[in-house]
Amino acid sequence: MYYGFDVGGTKIEFGAFDSDLNRVATERVPTPTDDYQLLIDTLVGLIEKYDQQFGEQGKIGIGLPGMESAEDGTVLTVNVPAAKGKPLRRDLEAKLARPVKIENDANCFALSEAWDDELKDSPSVLGLILGTGFGGGFIFDGKVFSGYSHIAGEVGHTRLPIDAWFHLGDNAPLLGCGCGKKGCLDSYLSGRGFELIYEHYYGEKKKAIDIIGEYNNQEPKALEHVDRFMELLAICFANIFTANDPHVVALGGGLSNFELIYEEMPKRIPKHLMSVGRVPRIMKAKHGDSGGVRGAAFLNIKD
Ligand SMILES: [Zn+2]
Repeated sequence: MYYGFDVGGTKIEFGAFDSDLNRVATERVPTPTDDYQLLIDTLVGLIEKYDQQFGEQGKIGIGLPGMESAEDGTVLTVNVPAAKGKPLRRDLEAKLARPVKIENDANCFALSEAWDDELKDSPSVLGLILGTGFGGGFIFDGKVFSGYSHIAGEVGHTRLPIDAWFHLGDNAPLLGCGCGKKGCLDSYLSGRGFELIYEHYYGEKKKAIDIIGEYNNQEPKALEHVDRFMELLAICFANIFTANDPHVVALGGGLSNFELIYEEMPKRIPKHLMSVGRVPRIMKAKHGDSGGVRGAAFLNIKD
């Protein structure tokens, strides 16, 4: 049995998957706000409950908004204060006497897509999230590639390519990022970025969904904005694809529901890609909100 936990700022979702990767149990509980011991007890309580129910010890994977420090194994996170700076994996392993895996939630999202029936034979899958922020995860041969410092796939905190800057023109917005840098892709390619760029050029605050509605109604500002954004997305994607050359790209997050992306990217990317590069298949994520739990559970499919 594979157990996955998606630990978020407000709730923990648990899922159990059998050897055919079918979900056989689901449970949601509130995330303890700042009580580490309560967080440990909550996770251990769920694991022991389902061990008893299934009559076996499940393999444990945990996804969270953050990562483990490559130096000392403590959790680096802003959104789950109870786990911040704590050796969560070591403490759980000591209590449960079995291995525990912890991964970034974007990597779990990508892993969940990579283990979809249709993609599981694909040598590599890049998951990109166009949500509140922009982030991603790389899956090679069915496993997360998390890198030397566990930051592989953090495409949101690479900066705008120079051709993107030229594309935005003389009045290009230089947007700050939560990480402390300026010009991070996170600030431009996310749903938030889509809104900030509109506001920069037209001086009006609008929700992404409303801008897309105006685009569908052929309103000139929205048409211009969407054209500008699609080209920006294509330039940035082409840079990411040139460096990583994924076989398949799965898009998640709210903005991934904008169907135009799947029409425009194959047309716009080739001129920005290294000349021998081919545009990978770009598809909408299939597992949406359950991706975090699935991916966390699937951390243990391959050792
Ligand atoms: Zn950043």
